[in-house]
Amino acid sequence: MKRKSQQHMLVSILHTVGVTLLCAAIGLVIGSVVAFKVTEVRLARYATHLIAHAEAFMNEINTTLDSVNASPYPFCSDEDISRLRTLVFNGHLVKDIGRVRDGYIYCTSMRGRISPPIKKSKPAIVTPSGRSIWLNTPILGTSGMTADITESGEADFVASREAFEHLQEPPMIYTTTLTNRATNQVLRTAGAPLKISDAEILEEKEVLKGNTFYVARCSRQLAPCMVTGITLQDAWSLNSSTIKGFVFIGALAGLAVSFTLLLQPSKRSLSTQLQRALRLNLLSVVYQPIVDVRTGQVLGAEALARWTNEDGQYVRPDVFIAAAEELGFIEKLTRVILRLVVSELGELLRSDPDFHINVNIAAADLADPHFVPMLEKLLRKHKIPARSISLELTERSTANRKLAISSISKLRELGHEFYIDDFGTGYSSLAYLNELAVDAIKIDRVFTDAIGTDSLTAAIVPQILAMAETLHLKVVVEGVERAEQSNYFAALDQKILAQGWHFGEPVPANDLLTLLASKAADKQTV
Ligand code: C2E
Ligand code: CA
Ligand code: CA
Repeated sequence: MKRKSQQHMLVSILHTVGVTLLCAAIGLVIGSVVAFKVTEVRLARYATHLIAHAEAFMNEINTTLDSVNASPYPFCSDEDISRLRTLVFNGHLVKDIGRVRDGYIYCTSMRGRISPPIKKSKPAIVTPSGRSIWLNTPILGTSGMTADITESGEADFVASREAFEHLQEPPMIYTTTLTNRATNQVLRTAGAPLKISDAEILEEKEVLKGNTFYVARCSRQLAPCMVTGITLQDAWSLNSSTIKGFVFIGALAGLAVSFTLLLQPSKRSLSTQLQRALRLNLLSVVYQPIVDVRTGQVLGAEALARWTNEDGQYVRPDVFIAAAEELGFIEKLTRVILRLVVSELGELLRSDPDFHINVNIAAADLADPHFVPMLEKLLRKHKIPARSISLELTERSTANRKLAISSISKLRELGHEFYIDDFGTGYSSLAYLNELAVDAIKIDRVFTDAIGTDSLTAAIVPQILAMAETLHLKVVVEGVERAEQSNYFAALDQKILAQGWHFGEPVPANDLLTLLASKAADKQTV
């Protein structure tokens, strides 16, 4: 028993740990999905923000270049240069503006007139609209500074490097790409190196490449696309508290689930265990004496099923009987109990034809065509007369009136006495009881408990007794626990049988035999 409960404890602990880990793992998966979504939204928002900035930048380049080309002053005149300086001063993203003609730079806002003019190198990109672009080109008049330069007509726009510096949002990285929408080509990329393909950029995809998650977004009006990215490690540390939160909630839910499951053993395991117990004959029977309330003579006993499950836990009969009824194997249980009764008490029943054992049966037994033949065969085999086995059926189980009447009458014809159990708790009318044609009623314990009180329940008891007398029914009162209850029934003129702790608790067959033997010895000495 001790080993079993230790095993049970170990299984429970393993079960709890298993369920908790499983739910924590589910939490981890959900947390990661949420973190992934959050990261995606964050990268997309970053890309859109960069696009907006790029569009503003392109607008400034266009308006500045247009303005320079529309200068009302002679090319590289003092007024023209001064105008360039004003434009640089007022611009946000421009570092310098130059004036070019036939591939030579003649003046810039920074250096003024250049003599002799400087020849320009070949551009890196020539856009379809006729713009030339130089990338990372040294800026005139600076030592080693480079910039991207855009040329249109007779004007050069030198972009400020710092223009994009404040847009850094580590640990996210970004890459600016220049695309040609007409040919669907990515002309150049600047920024962090990319593993994502040109097609994926142009289709504005969200993709995981290597250990980096990328989101691409393109400008609606101009050519640039922006690709933002983050490594999985950075995304993990950025969202670690979210993920940890989900894991924690998952583990808590797992604990709650496993405790609920442990405290409420599943029907399935009850069903499996009970079926196995029936197959392996692991149920037992105890017998509660039924006595004449006036003399205390033991006239019979009620057989009550008992079961201790595989975990060593006692399962209450109302629990496993209800489960057996619900799951459809109560007929099997009744058969097991009947077999136990005849094997344990066969000798007593054969030697004392006045003694009877009451066996509880269910509605399903009445409906089972094999029940009567099985009972007959069993009793014949053990040479036990039918009247030694009485049958108890609750009022509720007689709901199928036609079936109940015919089955009961067949069993009574064979010699079995029929008892209506838990009488008073159902709603059977007097007429129905008459129609059922039974031998006895067992008055439910609630009425016995009410004796001595002025409750309505107690007031009904004399009416039930009168009715039973009229219908010539024997009466058994259940649940007699105290002497005053016993005295109440003993004082009546009517013969009353009783059952309850006051007269004897349900006991194993051997104890019942010992009790009967000692009663018989008492009688002889009197
Ligand atoms: P029941 O047929 O009404 O059985 C009487 C119940 O009252 C038994 O409970 C018995 O132990 C209990 N009892 C007896 N004297 C006293 C008392 O003085 N005070 C109190 N408080 N209780 C008392 P048990 O053994 O727990 O059985 C519960 C129910 O399970 C039974 O009620 C019966 O409906 C069902 N049952 C038990 N064995 C079988 C069986 O073999 N087949 C079927 N179909 N049902 C069974
Ligand atoms: Ca009963
Ligand atoms: Ca009862």
